[in-house]
Amino acid sequence: MKRAKTIKIEEQLEKDLIESKRLFKVVFEHSPAAITITDSQGRIIACNPTAEKMLCTTKRDLFNKPISFLFPAEEWKILRSLSKRCRGKLSNVMTKVLCKDGSLLDVSASTSVLKDSQGKDSGSIGVFYDITREKLAQHQMHESENKLRIILDNSAAAITMTDEKERIISWNSFTEKLFGMNAKDLYMRPVHSLYPPEEWKIIRSLNIRQSGFMHHVESKAIRKDGTVMDVDLSVNILKDEQGKIIGSVGMLQDITESKRAHEMILQAKLAAEEANNAKSVFLAKMSHEVRTPMNAIIGMIDLTLDTPLNEEQKDNLKTAKDAADNLLSLINDILDLSRAQSGKVVIEEIEINVPDIIKNVCKGLMILARNKGVDVVWSIDPVIPRLLIGDPVRLRQVIVNLVNNAIKFTHKGKVTVNAKMKSITEKDCEVVFEVIDSGIGIPPQNLPYIFDVFTDAHNVTSRRYGGTGLGLAICKKIVEMMRGSIEVESQEGQGSVFRFIIIFGFRPDLIANPEVEQKPSSEVEVSSMPEELRHLRILLAEDNIVNQRIVVKVLEKLGWKVTAVNNGQEALNILNNQTFDVILMDDSMPLLSGVEATQIIRREEKQTGQHVPIIAMTANAMVGDREKYLASGMDGYVSKPIDRNLLFQEIVDLVSQRLKN
Ligand code: ADP
Repeated sequence: MKRAKTIKIEEQLEKDLIESKRLFKVVFEHSPAAITITDSQGRIIACNPTAEKMLCTTKRDLFNKPISFLFPAEEWKILRSLSKRCRGKLSNVMTKVLCKDGSLLDVSASTSVLKDSQGKDSGSIGVFYDITREKLAQHQMHESENKLRIILDNSAAAITMTDEKERIISWNSFTEKLFGMNAKDLYMRPVHSLYPPEEWKIIRSLNIRQSGFMHHVESKAIRKDGTVMDVDLSVNILKDEQGKIIGSVGMLQDITESKRAHEMILQAKLAAEEANNAKSVFLAKMSHEVRTPMNAIIGMIDLTLDTPLNEEQKDNLKTAKDAADNLLSLINDILDLSRAQSGKVVIEEIEINVPDIIKNVCKGLMILARNKGVDVVWSIDPVIPRLLIGDPVRLRQVIVNLVNNAIKFTHKGKVTVNAKMKSITEKDCEVVFEVIDSGIGIPPQNLPYIFDVFTDAHNVTSRRYGGTGLGLAICKKIVEMMRGSIEVESQEGQGSVFRFIIIFGFRPDLIANPEVEQKPSSEVEVSSMPEELRHLRILLAEDNIVNQRIVVKVLEKLGWKVTAVNNGQEALNILNNQTFDVILMDDSMPLLSGVEATQIIRREEKQTGQHVPIIAMTANAMVGDREKYLASGMDGYVSKPIDRNLLFQEIVDLVSQRLKN
C-alpha cells in the first residue's frame, strides 16, 4: 500500500517535471527578453530567439563562446566585479552588449546562478532587455530640460512659477536681477506682493483663473528697493489632469524705457505736427501778404504797358515785369515745395500745347540770356502732337526753372532746349525734354545731391550766383507727379544736360482739333460778347486801393460799370439801394470780411428769392481755398495776382448761367 503510494508520488513528480520543462521552454522560446544560459565554465550553451535577434547572430555562432564575448571589455570588467559581490545574482544592471555587426546596444541585465541536483553551481542564466529607446527618450528629455533651463536663465524676462496658493516656488535668474531679490526673498513669497495693491486689484479683476491665461497686459511691479517699474505681464494658469488649478506661470518684461521712448516719440510727433501746422499757417499768411502788393505791381505794369509808350519805356517796364514775375515765382516756389512735400499738389489734366510752352519760355528768357551774351535755341520734334493732356502750368514751371538755371550758370555759348517724342499709344505720349548748356558744369561730388533741398552742394554756387536751392527739388517732385523722372549729366567746365521724361495723356481726337489756343490776356475782346453781357453792373469790394484801381480799370475797359467799396459792410449798405449783376469780393477786409458779407447777403436773399453771383477774389491761394469760398456761399473764385483772362471768363460764365436760369 505504502509502495503503491510512493510510486504514485514519483509519477506525479515526473509529470510535474515534464510540465515545468515544457513551461520553461515556452517562456524561453517566446520571452520578449533575450535569455542566455551558460555552463559552469561560463560558456554559452543556449540562447533564445530574442537573443539571436537582439545580437544579430545565431545559436550556433554563440555556442560554446565565453559569455564575456557578448560585452565590451570595460563593461565586462564592471559586470564581473558586481557579480562577484552579489554572488552571481544581478538585477536590472544597465550595461551594453556587442552585436555581431559591431554595434552596441543599451540593455538592462539580470543574472541568476543555476544549481544541479547536488546543489553545486552548474552555470548561470542571463536575461537582457533592450533599453536603447528608453535611453534615447531619457537623453532627449534631459536635453530639452537643459535647453529650457538655458532659455529661462538667459531670458530677458522674469519668469516665475507659483503653487496653488499663489506663492512663488520657482523662478529664473532674471527674476532676481529685475526685482533685486535673492532666493530667500522670493521663495514662498505671495505673488501679489510683487505688484502695487491697486495694480493687483486690476490684475485680479481680469479673471485669469477662469480664462486660463492673459497675455501682454500693461501693469506695474515693485522692486525690492521700493521703486516701481512699468511691466508687460503675461500669465498662464497651470492645471492638473482633473482640471484643478495647481499654480501659474508669470512672465514680466520691464517696459519702463520703451514706454518712455514711446511717449517721447509721441510728444515729438505732436510737436512736429504743430510745427508743420504753424508752417502751413505761416506760408498761407506770407503768400497772402506778399501776393497782395505783387498784385498791385504786376497789375499796374500791365495797365501801363497798354498805354502809348516809347520803346525804352516799354523795355524798362517789361524788365520790371520780369523781375516782378520772378519774385512771384519765388514765393510760389516756397509755397509749392511745401505743398508738394505735404502731398497737397494736384496735377491738372487739361489740354496742353507742349511746343508752344517751350517756345514761349525760350522767347521769354532769351532777353535775360542775350544780356549775358548767351543764346537760347530750341528744337521740337514735329511728331509731338500739338495738343496733349497734362498740366501746362507745371510743365512751364519745370522748363522755366531749368532754362533759368542754364542761363544763370553759363557765361558763353548757348542754352538749347530739345523735346523729342519717345513713344505714343492710344492713351499716352511720352516726351523727353533736354535743357543743355555750355556753362560751368557741376562738380562730380555734387551730382548725387543736386535734386535735394538746400544741400551743401549748392552753397558755394548759390552764394556766387544767387538762388534758393529749391528749384531742382521742386522740378523733381513735379516731374515725378507727372509720371516722369529727371536726371542730370554734367562735366565741370563743359556744361550740363538736364533730361526729364513726362508721360502726357493723349487722345487721338485731339489731333483733329489742333487750334484750341488761349488768347493772350491783352486780346480780351468785348465786341464778340453777346448783347446781354456788354453792360454788366459790377460791385467790387476790395480794401486795397491800388488793387481796386487796377480791377476797376481792367473791367471798365471791357465796357462794364464798376462800383468799388472798401469792405463788406459798405457792400451791404450799397446793396440796400442798388442791384448788381456780379459782386467781386475780397475776403480779408476791415469791419466785415467777404465771407461774412456773403453769408448775410445769402440769408437776406432767402426772403427775396434772388441770387446774385459772388466771385471770391483773394490772395489766399492754398489748396482748399476755392472749396472754402464756394462752401461759404460764393459762386466763383479767382486768385490774386489777377489773371485778367480768368477773371473775365469767370464773370462771363457765371452771368451767362444766371441768364439761362
Ligand atoms: P538755385 O535756385 O540755388 O539755383 P536749384 O535747385 O535750381 O537752386 O539749383 C541748385 C544748384 O544746382 C545750383 O545752386 C547750382 O549749384 C546747381 N545747378 C543747377 N543747374 C545748374 C546748371 N545748369 N549748371 C551748373 N550748375 C547748376
